[in-house]
Amino acid sequence: MEDLSAQNIIDIYHHYCAPNYEPFPIVLTEGEGVWVRDTEEKKYVDCLAGYSALNQGHCHPAIYHAMINQAQKITLATRIFYNPMVAQFLKKLCGIAHKEMALLMNSGVEAVETAIKAARRWGYEVKNIPKDKAEIIVCEGNFHGRTSGVISFSSDEIARQNYGPYMPGFKQIPFGDSEALEKAITSNTAAFLVEPIQGEAGVIIPPKGYLKSAYELCKEHNVLLILDEIQTGLGRTGKLFAYQYESPVDPDLLLLGKALSGGYYPVSAVLGKRDILSRMTPGTHGSTFGGNPMAAAIGVAALEIILEEKLPERAAEMGAYFVAQLKSINSPHIKAVRAQGLMIGLTIKKSARKAKEFCKRLAQAGVLCKDVHDYHIRISPPLVISKNEIDWVVQKLKNVFEEEDEG
Ligand code: PLP
Repeated sequence: MEDLSAQNIIDIYHHYCAPNYEPFPIVLTEGEGVWVRDTEEKKYVDCLAGYSALNQGHCHPAIYHAMINQAQKITLATRIFYNPMVAQFLKKLCGIAHKEMALLMNSGVEAVETAIKAARRWGYEVKNIPKDKAEIIVCEGNFHGRTSGVISFSSDEIARQNYGPYMPGFKQIPFGDSEALEKAITSNTAAFLVEPIQGEAGVIIPPKGYLKSAYELCKEHNVLLILDEIQTGLGRTGKLFAYQYESPVDPDLLLLGKALSGGYYPVSAVLGKRDILSRMTPGTHGSTFGGNPMAAAIGVAALEIILEEKLPERAAEMGAYFVAQLKSINSPHIKAVRAQGLMIGLTIKKSARKAKEFCKRLAQAGVLCKDVHDYHIRISPPLVISKNEIDWVVQKLKNVFEEEDEG
């Protein structure tokens, strides 16, 4: 490989790469646990963690060994043939999530697309919704990915601009509002698709009891509850799944991705009841890479780490510690701190300095995190973060916010 300077690498990106991201001018070359390193050997704590895909930390050795081991056997069988590792992954995943079946895909948004198709099929074949009339209720401020189908029901105008025409069949209601959900349900409603916490919107936590009442309303009206736990699932919020904070809640379809591979590979899944997923018959859905042996080996290792290292419990404990430290920062710039486990949102008071400015300063200080919607900063480190590392991060945050006070 050519020995390129950081500036050369950045220039190549700007020349050859479609500009659908605006990266920080940092070239990452190595990662281990919560730490990443750039071309200049500078170390950072990664508080973005691949948008929560790296719950297990960067380059976890157990996933690495599982991947290498599988790579020496077979990487792609396609779903036209059987494979023992894929069977093992399916069984483990369904066992952990207490679901009857799973459909394996690659990226998170593919899991969302799959769930939409499964819900519509169920709507026509079980609920007898008239042809092409199935509706899916979604929430304002949602983020479920960026395919043309999924942006059709996004409220983010930047994500939608000039990508129409959009797919019909979706109805938007305010997030966290059970009454709005009840009012929106009609005899043509197939499903309600919702994130337990809206991550991309800035870590927006709904009122207590929201998921429980959504579950009860869906049950009462014969509507499928689809929980998108692609970001909140697999330990991030301090429970294996965020919906476990309320009871009873039992999603008809549960969507997982991101940390299902610990950042090694795109692996996603739709888990659910047999009566719904068994309607995805041959020829009606599929993917060349979805459910391949390599993904399965990585997925099994990723799940084992989450359970063996007790990452949900760790997220609960470290999240509480992190938030207590954050709340001790006495800066007039910080408006609010919201968190569930290690899914933390920090809101900045509205002023000329937007969240991006703070994130740039934090990156210079050695903490990587991401601004969202002008005045929110999302902090979601790998769940393996220690108290010492949290102290290190909080000290950097203090320095940056104090610096800003003087400025
Ligand atoms: N759903 C949620 C809640 C997400 O946070 C994301 C990604 O951030 C997605 C879906 C889409 O996942 P992917 O980017 O892997 O397609």
